Amino acid sequence: MSDEVQLAQTAEAGEDTIFGKILRKEIPCNFIYEDNLCVAFDDISPQAPVHFLVIPRKPISQLSKADDGDEALLGHLLIVAKKIAQKRNLKNGFRIVINDGTIGAQSVYHLHVHVLSGRQLQWPPG
Ligand code: AMP
Repeated sequence: MSDEVQLAQTAEAGEDTIFGKILRKEIPCNFIYEDNLCVAFDDISPQAPVHFLVIPRKPISQLSKADDGDEALLGHLLIVAKKIAQKRNLKNGFRIVINDGTIGAQSVYHLHVHVLSGRQLQWPPG
């Protein structure tokens, strides 16, 4: 079992997360993009040469807890992911991942979109 999956076994949805601290600037993080709805930054433990996260400022714990009213925000996260991918010249593609809950190996309970690229990714994922 990978460290990430092991961490996901014990992670729980809660009010505060490391991403909440990043958003409140309580811990340093270099944003590669930010607007009034979301921020993006490189993953601290990259699983590919390119691996960044796009997270909403709104503290939605996970995709399965999003409301119908979050529809535009969720679409915005994907459009921002695509724009950053274009800026990074990821012409040959990329992968979007949203882990949800224990089965999905989610370890941080603040919704985030993973964007991975820079090497040939395999399918199916483990
Ligand atoms: P997930 O397993 O889908 O919840 O993904 C959480 C991701 O957050 C993992 O890929 C971690 O490497 C990443 N991560 C955790 N802490 C930080 C941090 N301080 N800065 C950037 N990425 C982080």
